[in-house]
Amino acid sequence: MSIKFDIQPAANPTSEKDRVAKLADPGFGRVFTDHMAIVRYNQAKGGWYDARIEARANFQLDPAGAVLHYAQEIFEGLKAYKRDDGGVNLFRPDANARRFKDSADRMAMAQLPEDVFIEAVEQVVRIDRDWIPGGEGSLYLRPFMIASEIFLGVKPSSEYIFAVIASPVGSYFKGGPAPVSIWASENYTRAAVGGTGAVKCGGNYAASLRAQAEAIQHGCDQVVFLDAVERRYIEELGGMNVFFVFEDGSLSTPPLGTILPGITRDSIIALANDAGKTVREELYSLDQWRKDAASGKLKEAFACGTAAVISPIGKVRSVSGDFDICGGAAGPVAMGLRKQLIDIQYGRTNDPHNWIKKVF
Ligand SMILES: *Cc1c(COP(=O)(O)O)cnc(C)c1O
Repeated sequence: MSIKFDIQPAANPTSEKDRVAKLADPGFGRVFTDHMAIVRYNQAKGGWYDARIEARANFQLDPAGAVLHYAQEIFEGLKAYKRDDGGVNLFRPDANARRFKDSADRMAMAQLPEDVFIEAVEQVVRIDRDWIPGGEGSLYLRPFMIASEIFLGVKPSSEYIFAVIASPVGSYFKGGPAPVSIWASENYTRAAVGGTGAVKCGGNYAASLRAQAEAIQHGCDQVVFLDAVERRYIEELGGMNVFFVFEDGSLSTPPLGTILPGITRDSIIALANDAGKTVREELYSLDQWRKDAASGKLKEAFACGTAAVISPIGKVRSVSGDFDICGGAAGPVAMGLRKQLIDIQYGRTNDPHNWIKKVF
């Protein structure tokens, strides 16, 4: 499908002075650019229509809009990176577009054609190009879709709003990634077989917040969830996948199914394989993790996702005891993969899998 975006630049964009001030220390997710993309869907009107790039503004949403009651909502997250030559890269936007379609399918929402998703993202990057920070910063893009039909009956909505907003972000970790401490939750689970664990939907995040709060109460940065059936196997963090690194040089990561199929996860598997390393997608229990950390068989563990790329895990806490990994420090495998991935994203090294899409 091809759809033409009507481009209406903001009448009152942020002044250069204010933009520069905002870009000095943007943090994560609090500063936004001047524009957004919007595409609407109405079953009765024959599908997707009214594609626009326009000034970022509030939505008009009826109080009976379906998303407000039954949480039919999905999202994506990807970044635009400024190259040294001034051009701009996207990293695997086709993979985000595909996952967005899969998410829509599971949530019984209208499926946005992948080329429209990519076009919307690229249009926002083009019109808000001046908002992309240099250095280790990037422009975080947040495509999302909400059910907008005005109806309190429980059924898939017949109307949707798809939008892309953009937020300049600094380096996630100033001065290199600090190892994170994680809390293994034995009270709460994230996903069950047949549920929505593999879907990037807001509802999963709403359900994870109590567990995340519990992690913070126990002095940890993040929660790691165990499987919902046996309560033994590591699944993932609230918003990041996990990897384990062993003394024989191999890696393992939990298998797909109830976890979110991360694009960073997939990219790390590919890069590790390129380097001749074995990567197993297999179940790994908290007990085994503790034993392997104690015996020295396990060398490193790290979390991964678009926002932070790779975060080494330095400490694990749970009701059944605490243990350190890699002496609480960042390990060489995590740091090496992190550098390689970031160098590909910023166009500083070759891109053997054709992951980069140049916008400029
Ligand atoms: C988005 C997300 C990830 C990471 O996915 P990437 O594509 O690597 O950014 C991992 N887990 C959850 C629950 C997520 O929502």
